[in-house]
Amino acid sequence: MNRSLQATVAELKTVAISPRVKPELLVSGARGSHDRSDFLLVKMITSAGVAGIGEVSATLTWSGEDSTTAQHVIDTVLRPALIGKPLTPVAELEAAMDTVLAGHPFTKAGISIALWDAYARTLDVPLAVALGGPRRTDIAVKCSLSGNGERLRTGLEHARAAGFEAYKIKIGMDVPTDVARLRELRELVGSDAFIGLDANGGYSRTAARRAGRLLLPYEPAFFEQPVQPGDLPGMASLRDLGLPIVADESVFGMDDLMAVLAADAADVISLYVGKSGGPGRAVAMGRIAAAAGLDVIIGSNGELGVGAAAQLHVACALDRLSEEIPSDIIGAHYYTSDILAGGLDATGVRARLGDGPGLGVTLTEDLEAAFR
Ligand SMILES: [Mg+2]
Repeated sequence: MNRSLQATVAELKTVAISPRVKPELLVSGARGSHDRSDFLLVKMITSAGVAGIGEVSATLTWSGEDSTTAQHVIDTVLRPALIGKPLTPVAELEAAMDTVLAGHPFTKAGISIALWDAYARTLDVPLAVALGGPRRTDIAVKCSLSGNGERLRTGLEHARAAGFEAYKIKIGMDVPTDVARLRELRELVGSDAFIGLDANGGYSRTAARRAGRLLLPYEPAFFEQPVQPGDLPGMASLRDLGLPIVADESVFGMDDLMAVLAADAADVISLYVGKSGGPGRAVAMGRIAAAAGLDVIIGSNGELGVGAAAQLHVACALDRLSEEIPSDIIGAHYYTSDILAGGLDATGVRARLGDGPGLGVTLTEDLEAAFR
């Protein structure tokens, strides 16, 4: 065995940051808007001196977590559970986190990203390779838009300026306004452009069916989370609308995925590194979804550069990634400044895997200094 794989978790440090969201790209959906974003960056150092970085990108409306709760649970239970334990197998460290803390998947994912980064750096391979890939190296991406009229047009202008050519629009609030929004966007981008719909669980079954029928003429490519996360029979009943049904809020961890498969409730699963609890678990869930014949996409919680890099490596390692629906490896576009000095090759059209070890990214000098 490579001796450095016997290294243990020596240090776990955190730095809290609050980057500003670009006002013109502020996304609002049925679960509120992401106008304020708090992140906790994580650095894990092994006894062999290898460092891994991670990012907790959590919002209270999603999982009841934010950077403050993350800091609290890391200080009280997660750090004590990890320090001194062998880095490999990483799955055992993830299990140790589950033993001392229920829930908090996005916080655990932030740490898991750092563990996997350090593991892959120890092997001196890209994280996607450590995760069993890469099965692909180029990932198509899309941008989320919200609002009507002036707000929609401004958001689209900025998205186009950043190079985006595929879009997802937030619906799920009021059916007539939602229909007007899609009609307006379709007129703005033309008949060939890719547009998906995300209701964030905002509709009742009846409203979702009515919305689906009224929205269909404007040729949306998918209908994400039409009804509330727990209404799997409702989701299943909407699969005859003629639009692929994407499960997002319905699927956090493996148990949720098994429930969606058992209920035959979706055509596509939107995986997040955060919802899954880490890169390894996201890839494992993707394998099960693919084995069941479903498509998989990578969804976003507005990640910064470290979280985006983790999404990219997972997307590259998955057995199957939808070729029809672009993923959401786009978080960094939403902020006025990023946390990376380099290493993430992402445009508005695609994200591309590099050949550096681990996540392949480096933090800015300022952030490196903040960790010292
Ligand atoms: Mg969604």
